[in-house]
Amino acid sequence: MAAWVCTKCGYVYDERFGDPEHGIIAGTLFEKIPDTWVCPRCKAAKPFFAKKKV
Ligand SMILES: [Zn+2]
Repeated sequence: MAAWVCTKCGYVYDERFGDPEHGIIAGTLFEKIPDTWVCPRCKAAKPFFAKKKV
């Protein structure tokens, strides 16, 4: 499991937790998130996210 950080606002998408408020269940790999998903905080699209070193 990895975490991805939004390069625009710093929001962190953690694959362990997903984004259940927006229909992404816990354990969803970032690559498997629909392209329609956007950053819940700043609405940036997926390409603005960068994989976070853990
Ligand atoms: Zn963002």
